[in-house]
Amino acid sequence: MLYYSLNNQSPKVSFREATIAGQAPDKGLYFPEVIPSISQDVIQNINSYSKAEIALKVIQPYVGDTIPEAVLKRIVEETIDFEFPLVKINDKIDALELFHGPTLAFKDVGARFMSRCLGYFVQGQNKKVTVLVATSGDTGGAVANGFYGVDGVDVVILYPSGKVSNIQELQLTTLGKNVTALEINGRFDDCQRMVKQAFADQELTSQLFLTSANSINVARWLPQQFYYFFAYQQWQDKGNPPVICVPSGNFGNICAGLMAYASGLPVKHFVAACNANDIVPSYLQTGNYHPKEAVATLSNAMDVGNPSNFVRILQIFNNEFHTLKEKLSSYSVTDEETEQTISEVYKEFNYLLDPHGAVGYLSLERYLNEHPAQKGYFLETAHPVKFPDAVERISGHKIEVPQSVQGLLSKQKISISMEPDFDQLKAYLLSTR
Ligand SMILES: *Cc1c(COP(=O)(O)O)cnc(C)c1O
Repeated sequence: MLYYSLNNQSPKVSFREATIAGQAPDKGLYFPEVIPSISQDVIQNINSYSKAEIALKVIQPYVGDTIPEAVLKRIVEETIDFEFPLVKINDKIDALELFHGPTLAFKDVGARFMSRCLGYFVQGQNKKVTVLVATSGDTGGAVANGFYGVDGVDVVILYPSGKVSNIQELQLTTLGKNVTALEINGRFDDCQRMVKQAFADQELTSQLFLTSANSINVARWLPQQFYYFFAYQQWQDKGNPPVICVPSGNFGNICAGLMAYASGLPVKHFVAACNANDIVPSYLQTGNYHPKEAVATLSNAMDVGNPSNFVRILQIFNNEFHTLKEKLSSYSVTDEETEQTISEVYKEFNYLLDPHGAVGYLSLERYLNEHPAQKGYFLETAHPVKFPDAVERISGHKIEVPQSVQGLLSKQKISISMEPDFDQLKAYLLSTR
């Protein structure tokens, strides 16, 4: 399998090269030359396969011969070494809980898979790799955790000061070792811009081996397909496939779901759930795509003003607006509605949503109200304990802190403060050589 750049100005590369580079030299996103098909036999008999068997079948064609099968099998098994339960909330709506991994968010899957692939690829090389990531919340923790202690790989994380939750911040600032957190006095979009500038800077890239771990990296993006298949295993009414609603920011997660669908996974319809950052909902209404500055919301991991994976979604649908619109709907949910949803769903169904999941729940409910014969699930992308202030205030319910988080709370935050200024980032990175 080869990957080409969506800007079409760079040579095609293997999975190995795409994983190491992150982005193509022409700054485009990598996309597989063909979307592989899952055999219909696997779909029809999905319950007779283990999670690891399914995951291996899904990812193997994308990896090709760049990782030996036995190694890939081990990587896959370690990646999905926790539960992905589909939990019934009411007659129409289930939650696919993706928060049972080590940092309590879905990004654990992509980060664990990518770190292990990159760790495999840099083995025996004498040049150190630096993974550079901008995070609006959950990416940082998942990447830090996934890469912690991986030989030959340094991780540098940029996050917007004061705009991530306490637990999110602790998850990325307390590990140490090969993980450094840069606390940027600005917004997520500033962090992302600084990272992009670093990749484009010739002096930096000639001196350091830089790569990204954002969802643009194929090794983070593609394994996110796994849990859509795991959900289908648990879906009761196989004759009536689910509507799938994905709380979206950079649109990597929903784009993986669309890849799974393009490979043959039965899905009735997709709903992209957005907060006030409504670029995609407006696009689907008007046909005009207008990136904006991100605004801060309660669901902060979705505060993205120019979702980088959207070009991949367009590619899946051959840039045909009408075909895309038939399969994808999108809604924008305000913070007020998010709060109301957390409170109502807790009262009515005794289910505690986090703010991202609440945006997902309400968007799915809206779609199902317009399509009463259908049922679906939304992705509960983070554990509510990651946002205790908002969730406890709104629900009036004290959240029990999972064991994995308790240890964090007593740890000391260590970060390096920085202005949203590329020259400062560059000077820092050069100093790490
Ligand atoms: C990252 C994140 C999202 C958005 O995912 P994208 O792939 O960027 O669309 C949603 N919810 C949570 C909790 C996240 O961490």
